[in-house]
Amino acid sequence: MDLLEESVVPEHARDVKQRAREFAAEHIEPNAEEYFESGEYPWEVLEAGMDAGLIAQDIPEEYGGSGFDLQQVLAVAEEFYRADAGIALTLQLASFGCEIVSHYGSEEQKEEYLRPVAENDQISGLAVSEPETGSDLAGMTTAAEKEGDEWVLNGEKYWVGNAVEADWLTVYAKTGDGDDRYSNYSMFIVPTDAPGYEAEHIPEKMGMRASKQGHIVFDDCRIPEENLVGSEGGGFYMLAEFFNHGRVVVGGHGLGLAAAAIEEAWEFVHGRKAFGRDVSEFQAVQHDLADMRMEFEAARSLNWRAAEKVQNGEDAGFWAACAKTKSTETATYCAERGMQLHGGRSVLGDRRIARVYRDVRIPVIYEGANEIQRNLIYRQSR
Ligand SMILES: Cc1cc2nc3c(=O)[nH]c(=O)nc-3n(C[C@H](O)[C@H](O)[C@H](O)COP(=O)(O)OP(=O)(O)OC[C@H]3O[C@@H](n4cnc5c(N)ncnc54)[C@H](O)[C@@H]3O)c2cc1C
Repeated sequence: MDLLEESVVPEHARDVKQRAREFAAEHIEPNAEEYFESGEYPWEVLEAGMDAGLIAQDIPEEYGGSGFDLQQVLAVAEEFYRADAGIALTLQLASFGCEIVSHYGSEEQKEEYLRPVAENDQISGLAVSEPETGSDLAGMTTAAEKEGDEWVLNGEKYWVGNAVEADWLTVYAKTGDGDDRYSNYSMFIVPTDAPGYEAEHIPEKMGMRASKQGHIVFDDCRIPEENLVGSEGGGFYMLAEFFNHGRVVVGGHGLGLAAAAIEEAWEFVHGRKAFGRDVSEFQAVQHDLADMRMEFEAARSLNWRAAEKVQNGEDAGFWAACAKTKSTETATYCAERGMQLHGGRSVLGDRRIARVYRDVRIPVIYEGANEIQRNLIYRQSR
C-alpha cells in the first residue's frame, strides 16, 4: 500500500519526494525507535540529511540553498513524517525562521545569516511563543527597545525549537504600544551567543522526543540595530504570511503520521487471529480501515489543493488553516483507530502505533492550535 503515492504531487516536486523517501527509509525509519527512547537530538541523522541536500530546503539558490517551493517542502514533509515525526521535526526545523529573513531581510542579513544555514554550517529557529501564551500573537510581552545603535530585548520565549542548539533565531518582540495591537510587533535576528541570551531545554515530552524545544530568557539581551528584519511594527503581518506556508507543511506532518497509522493498523489486523479467523475478516474492522482511508484521501486532496492555492496567493489564510486542521485531525483519528485495532499490544512502548499515537497530539497544537485555525476558517468564509 503506497498511501503517499505521487499522483497528487505536481511533477516538479516528484524528484525530491523520491529522494526524501529513500533518505527516510535509510536514515530515519531505522533510527526512529532509538531516538524516541533516548530523547537525544539526532545530530547524525541531521548531518546525513545535510549531506543528502535535504536540509534548509527552502532557502533561495542565490544564497546557497535548494530554493524549494512550498509544494516541494510539503512533498518532503509527508515522507519524513511517515518515517518518524520526532526526527522529521528536527530535520525541518534546522532552517526554521529563515523564510522570514528570506522574504523581508536585507541583502547583508541574507548573506550573513541565510548563507551559513543553506551551506549547513549553522542551524536556526523561530521564537514566537511565550510561557503565558502561544495563541494570542498580539498579546505577547517580550519587548525590544532601541538604545543607541542597539536593540535591547527583555522577556521570555517558550517551546522554541533549537533554542539551545541553534546559532541564531528569528525572534518576535513587542516594539510599540499603539491602539492597533497588530502593529506593535517586529522581527529580529538574535544570535544565540548574544549577551543576555539564556536557553535551556524544556522538560521531556511524551511525543516527538527526537526534537528539542527550549525556554529562553532575554535579560537585557543586546543586538545591533541592523538585526531588525524588515520594517519596525511589521512583525505580526510577517508572521501571518509565514504561517500560511508553515500550516500547509504542518498539514504534511499530519498526512505522514496518518499514513503511518493506517499502514501499521492494516499490517496488524492482517495477521492477528481472533475467534478462529483473521481480524481483518471482521466487517467492522474493514469499515474502520475504509473510514481511515477515506479520511486520509480527503485530507490529502485538500492539503495539496491548499498548497497550490497558497503558492499562488489565492485566499492563502483560509486554505492554509483548512489544510492544517483537516490533515492533523485525520492523523489523530487514524492513530486512535489504529490503537484500538492493535488491542492490548497498542500500549506496548516499542510499537510504532504507540509512537504515532503520541506524536499526533502535537501538530494539532503547533503552528497555531486548531481552534485558532477554525476561527480563521470561519472569518474567511464570510
Ligand atoms: C513540540 C512543539 C514545538 C513547538 N515549536 C515552536 C517553535 O519552534 N517556536 C515557537 O514559537 N513555538 C513553538 N511551539 C509552540 C506552539 O506554537 C504553541 O504551543 C501553540 O501556538 C499554542 O500555544 P499555547 O501552548 O501557549 O496554548 P494557549 O495559547 O495557552 O492555548 C491553550 C488552548 O486554549 C484554547 N484556545 C486558546 N485560544 C483560543 C481561542 N481564541 N479560541 C478557542 N480556543 C482557544 C485551545 O484549545 C488551545 O490549545 C511548539 C509547541 C510544541 C508542542
